[in-house]
This record gives sequence, C-alpha cells and structure tokens, in this order.
Amino acid sequence: MAPSRPFPPVRQSAFPYAHVARPSHECRAPCKEAGLDALAEAGVEERVHAAICAALLAGKLRPGMPLRERNLAEAFGCTRGAVRKVLARLGAEGKLDLEPNRGAFVPRPSVEDIRQVYSARRAVEAGIVATLCGRLSDEQVARLTQHVEAEEAAFHGQQREASVRLAGGFHALLTDMVGSADLLAFVQRLIAKTELYKALYDPAEFIECAPTEHRELVAALQTDRIQATIDMITAHLDDIERRVVEQAMRAEEVPDVKAIFGQG
Ligand SMILES: [Zn+2]
Repeated sequence: MAPSRPFPPVRQSAFPYAHVARPSHECRAPCKEAGLDALAEAGVEERVHAAICAALLAGKLRPGMPLRERNLAEAFGCTRGAVRKVLARLGAEGKLDLEPNRGAFVPRPSVEDIRQVYSARRAVEAGIVATLCGRLSDEQVARLTQHVEAEEAAFHGQQREASVRLAGGFHALLTDMVGSADLLAFVQRLIAKTELYKALYDPAEFIECAPTEHRELVAALQTDRIQATIDMITAHLDDIERRVVEQAMRAEEVPDVKAIFGQG
C-alpha cells in the first residue's frame, strides 16, 4: 500500500500557535505622542487576556464561576472598560460564556458537549494521520521529533503551562502539515475547546497527552500502516475523553438527599 501521491511541500512559515495567548507588548518609550495611550491600553488588555487564559488552562477557574468586571478591574488595576473588552473577546473565542444582563461565566460544558468535541477530533484527526502516514518528508519528521522533545522537557520539568501549550501544539503541527489553512483553523478551535474542558474537569492530570504517545505516533507515521496509525490516534483521544467525561459526570451528579440525611 505504498503511497504514490507526492506530498505537498513543507510550509516554511512560522507555525501559528494562534490558540495560545501571546505575551503582552509593553510600551517601552514614554507615551508622549497621541495614539500611544491607545497602545498602552491594548497592552493592558493583552495582559488581562493572557492572565485569564492561563488561569483557565491551569484549572484555577471552576465551571460556572462568574467573572465580574469590577472584581477583575480591581485585581488587574485597570479600567472596567478594558476588562469588558477582554471578556467580550474571550466570549468570541469560546473560552467564556457571556449571558445578556448577567455577565461572563466560566463555561460549564455538559458531558454531551464534551463527547461531541472529542468525536469531532477523532473523525478529523483520523483523516489527518491517514493523509500523512508514510508521506512525511525528513524535514517534517525532524520538526515533529523536535516538538516531542520539547514536550518531554516541559513535562519532566513540571512546566504546566508550557506542557499544555506544547501538547495541543503537537496536534496542530500535524494538522499544519496537511497544508490547509482552513483545516488548521478548524482543528485549532477544537483543540482549544478540549484543552479548556480538560482544565475545567481534570486539572490534576495536567496535560491532555502523554509525550510518549506522541513519540509513538511520529514513529507510526513513518510507516505505511495507515489503519494502525488511525487506531493509535483514536485510542489516544479516547483515553483523554474518558478521563474528562468521568470527572464531568461526577461534577454533574446531583447529591442524593436520602443518602445525605436518611438513616442508613
Ligand atoms: Zn496528544
């Protein structure tokens, strides 16, 4: 079952980790000119956005928790207007739920929501590995291997934030190798959702993916065993889904009043 199609050329552009919050750019020169105030304001918004994203991914914010403009403005020492803009952006990115007249809340995805997004990832990523299996260039294999090494270093160094970013980044990097910007944008949205769901319900296990499984996947992608590689990515995503769903089901359980107050 040797592949005959030539693989598309490796894209040389810097890999866009668009779903990862970037560090803020502070205004270095004194803000003397008109317009620089707006730049400084944008810097504040980036900082607040990055901090809330980091807290979400670290599992510090619980499902359903309200995020009040006034409290956040006090915590960050900024205006409520700046906070409002950041909350609107996080809502648009699907990282917060915005409810009219009630405010912003940390999402509380149902078990069904979680199952749906992992089903989408399994379907799409099975197609991605089938497309790439046996067709990776030496340069692509080197990039993937380098990425897995960075994941392992972050994992063993207990660098939680870097581990989360790199684990999702591995799946995005694979997707990028298919060479479709539309596909990459779609998969990045799915990854951002599963990262959030994982952080909300299973924060103790601090990353979605074990780097060892990514290393095995890179090895499998260098063979022509397409079905075995599909089975591998499916099992990898199944495993993460099972852990998150178990925790989410526990969170959904309504305590039994009889068990609490009844005579045993
Ligand atoms: Zn993974």
